[in-house]
Amino acid sequence: SIDVQSNCTFDSLMISQKTLERLKANRFDRPSPVQAKAIPLGLLGRDMLVQAKSGTGKTLVFSILAVENLDLKSSFIQKVIVTPTREIATQINETIRKVAPPTARSSVYVGGIAVNWNVQDLKTTRPHIVVGTTGRLCQLVKQESMDMSHCDFFALDEADKMMDACFKDDVNFLVNALPKMRQVAVFSATYPRNMDVLLEKLLVKPALVRFNADDVQLVGIKQYVITKCSPVLEKLAHILKSVRYVQALIFTDQVEKCEPIAAHLKSEGLDVTYVSSAMSQKERQRVVDQLRTKRVKILVSSDLTARGIDADNVNLVVNIDAAANEETYFHRIGRAARFGAHGAAVTLLDGEKALKCFTALAYRGKVTAKRATVESLPEDLPKNTE
Ligand code: ADP
Ligand code: MG
Repeated sequence: SIDVQSNCTFDSLMISQKTLERLKANRFDRPSPVQAKAIPLGLLGRDMLVQAKSGTGKTLVFSILAVENLDLKSSFIQKVIVTPTREIATQINETIRKVAPPTARSSVYVGGIAVNWNVQDLKTTRPHIVVGTTGRLCQLVKQESMDMSHCDFFALDEADKMMDACFKDDVNFLVNALPKMRQVAVFSATYPRNMDVLLEKLLVKPALVRFNADDVQLVGIKQYVITKCSPVLEKLAHILKSVRYVQALIFTDQVEKCEPIAAHLKSEGLDVTYVSSAMSQKERQRVVDQLRTKRVKILVSSDLTARGIDADNVNLVVNIDAAANEETYFHRIGRAARFGAHGAAVTLLDGEKALKCFTALAYRGKVTAKRATVESLPEDLPKNTE
């Protein structure tokens, strides 16, 4: 699809020969448009605000920026990447490992794991690159276990989320722990009104790399709205049995509903598990890994995984309630079409209020969903013919 094609090659983006070799070895053949534009600007040292749709490869942009110009002989932390969730941090580190020199050291520091493990790791690993969540990184800096005074590159992933009330102070604290000579780059698919203004305060004369800022449609995703969805669990099970897909993500905005929904679907004979923020970190990571390695077909999730999670076989997203806002909606459905793949997003609506809230989105021209009922599913939604 248009969003992931560009005419240039990685060779023309000022990337070092060693990194180019690793890109090639990992089958990153051609850069996406956001990569083509943001990588050279970033390598010139510019502060950046980057906006590009879900699944267009933003992770590789800051991973490349992080691994270029590393001083491998130094034992200082030189690059820090901050994310809102623990699972995204782990996933980013996997991309970094693909493009980093083998002797580069990187570590992930997130909540839900004893802080002393991180303190120990800082001493034994002495990472060049740290990926982490705000709360944990702040804690490590505040207790003087982690030193950011030699960090010359700082990136925020899901940057608009990082300006939410719960993260903002911590992000500012971390930026203040950086040396004066540093580069800050922020990345997201969405920037709600005024968030970019807040973020620009962290940046010095930033380059703005924005693709389709007003056009949030995801090219590869067909969107459907199924009305009169009561009782919702029965209808959901019916849809999951009728529609053909490789893997599916089911979103609810209520954490406590994940488990009962998964239990119901299991009782219907479906291959399903759930993830929720109430789980231990180890458990959360295990479940997300299960999805990414295709060991489970259906994952029920709260909005915890709506952002950032890259499971490239997910081609169906079902919203069992309207998303809280349009950013969440687009992050959720963006899980179904990674890097130009094709997928479907189905939103189940039960009752007038849900329908009103959803059509408000549609009226702003943002959602072009087809409307249908469970009894007559849309014709172009692929059916399970087994
Ligand atoms: P975003 O953060 O923009 O939503 P990701 O960085 O998670 O998207 O990338 C989505 C998928 O695209 C990942 O599986 C990634 O490995 C893949 N990808 C990224 N860049 C390329 C590329 N140049 N060629 C092939 N695949 C790529
Ligand atoms: Mg991402």
